[in-house]
This record gives sequence, structure tokens and C-alpha cells, in this order.
Amino acid sequence: MPAIKLDGKALAATMRGEIAARVAARAAARKRAPGLAAVLVGDDKASQQYVKMKHETFTAAGCASVVHRLAADTTQAQLLDLVARLNADPAVHGILVQLPLPKHIDDSAILRAVSPAKDADCFHPENLGLLAAGFPRFYPCTPHGVVQLLLRNGVALAGKEVVIVGRSNIVGKPLALMLMQKPGTANPVAGDATVTVAHTRTTDLAAVCRRADVLIACAGRAAVVTPEHVKPGAAVVDVGTNFVGGKLTGDVHPAVADVAGWLSPVPGGVGPMTITMLLHNTLSAAEQLDGA
Ligand code: NAP
Repeated sequence: MPAIKLDGKALAATMRGEIAARVAARAAARKRAPGLAAVLVGDDKASQQYVKMKHETFTAAGCASVVHRLAADTTQAQLLDLVARLNADPAVHGILVQLPLPKHIDDSAILRAVSPAKDADCFHPENLGLLAAGFPRFYPCTPHGVVQLLLRNGVALAGKEVVIVGRSNIVGKPLALMLMQKPGTANPVAGDATVTVAHTRTTDLAAVCRRADVLIACAGRAAVVTPEHVKPGAAVVDVGTNFVGGKLTGDVHPAVADVAGWLSPVPGGVGPMTITMLLHNTLSAAEQLDGA
């Protein structure tokens, strides 16, 4: 039997509706609309598309969204100056600096300059530290989207074996933190799972992956996960976005659908969830900064 689809597009629509209702309640209480400032440097086509989608999603949910478009030759000092102004602007609750930045700019210096209280992506080391300590201010968007996609589709996590393929600071590492932690009042979205993180130095990736009740591919390598990597009936989440012959494809081979119990598609899986969690974090930042 083919795998049940983990439909991120449908779940994202539901969760955006829930967020829009909370935004409308704030407006009715005469509170400022949650505001996102997106910063786009240069003319990378994929980045332009991502920022456009984020802007449309925020506007549709009743939030304020301003896109700051800067030339590719913007200096690091100019970009830091803009970030400082956004940090000080009370109408801005979330700041998103779209990556990748041009090579002459140090990404980590920019991400560390964003006020942790407005770090809607949850990339700042202070926020990653709070997450690691079990007191998150925000959850990072893609990992949070993955966890919601599993939990809201009834995939059990507590006590299960989870294998994550990839250990980046943006996806694999914070996802491992979220999935291994014990849920509690200060940390409600936590998996209570037994987590293994695989990477390019992992020996016999297929054998490691076959242990998983829940397998998450975030390697950025097309078809790195094949049916040979999957325990029959496992839930498989495909985070990867790769362009092969001009077509968007994930990290999971399509034949995995015949072995897995659940499978997220690409497109229409994790991608829409990531943007939804950015919206969630910006509303959360507004509630933390201006009051719930
Ligand atoms: P990244 O920084 O390149 O990290 C990739 C990770 O995968 C690294 O830890 C790497 O191991 C590991 N890896 C690569 N090839 C592997 C292999 N053959 N076997 C085992 N491990 C392997 O990428 P990222 O930023 O985490 O993103 C991962 C993917 O998710 C990309 O395709 C990205 O576009 C996608 N993504 C999607 C969304 C979304 O919303 N859908 C959001 C973010 C990212 P080493 O550490 O050993 O190098």
C-alpha cells in the first residue's frame, strides 16, 4: 500500500487560518499588527521567490510586511546599519535576512546582529542556546514545521527511534534538539524520541536509517534516501530541495512511497510549513514585545 501523504500544503493552510484568527483578535483589541521586515540583498532568483512567498503569506494573514531590497554590492556596514534600524523600530517584530548573502558579507556577523527578540528565523546563537537548554524563545522554522507535520498527522514520536540525515545549524541540529527533548510548559513542542543524527562521515547510512521509525532527510542531496534506507511502515519526511534538470525534487527517491507508512512530498511538504512557522514566530515575537 502506498505511503500516507504528509500534506504540508493542507496543514499549512489550516495553521495559517489559526494564526490569522489570532492576528484579527489583536486588531480587534487595537494592538499593532505583527510586522515582518525581510531583507533581500542582491538578485538571486530563488531568494526573490522565497521573499515574495513570505510577503504574500504575511499579508494574507493580516500581518504587516516590508521588503528591503538592497543591491548586490551593499557593504557589510550598510547591512548592519539597516539591521540596527530594524532592531529599534517598534513596528517591526520579526526580522528576516534572506540567505545566502553575497560572498563579501559575513552571514554569521549579520545573523548575530539581529536582536534575539526579533529573530523570527531563530538563527541567533542566543536563541539556539535557549532551545538547547529547553527554554526556547522561538522554535526554528523548518524544524518546527517538520515536528508539527508529524504530530498533527498522528505520527507518534515519544519513545520512537528517529534518524535525521543532516546536521546543519539551520535544520538537522535544531531538529535533533526538538525531537530528543522532554515536553513541558517551557518547551511544549518536543518529541521525547531517541534520536540519531547521520552525516557524511556516517558509516553504512542505509543500516542506520533502517533503524528509524521516523526518518528525516535534510542532506540536500537528491534521492540520497532510497527504499533500501527505509524500515517498512516508517514515517519519512523529506526536507530537501534540489533542482534536477530544472525540476524541484527532494532527498527521498520516489520509490520510497512503496515502503514507507507516511511520506511528505516535495513540493507541498515541509516548504509551506517553514513559511507558516515564520508567521507563527513573528506573531509570537509581537506577543512577547507588545503583550499577548
Ligand atoms: P547543509 O547546510 O548543506 O547541510 C547538509 C547536511 O547533510 C550536512 O550535515 C551534511 O553532512 C549532510 N549530508 C550531505 N550529504 C550527505 C550524504 N550523502 N549522506 C549523509 N549526510 C549528508 O544543508 P541545510 O541548510 O541543512 O539544508 C538541507 C536541505 O534542506 C537542502 O536541500 C535545503 O535546500 C533544504 N531546506 C529546505 C527547507 C524547506 O523549507 N523545505 C528549509 C531549509 C532547508 P556534513 O555535515 O558531514 O557535511
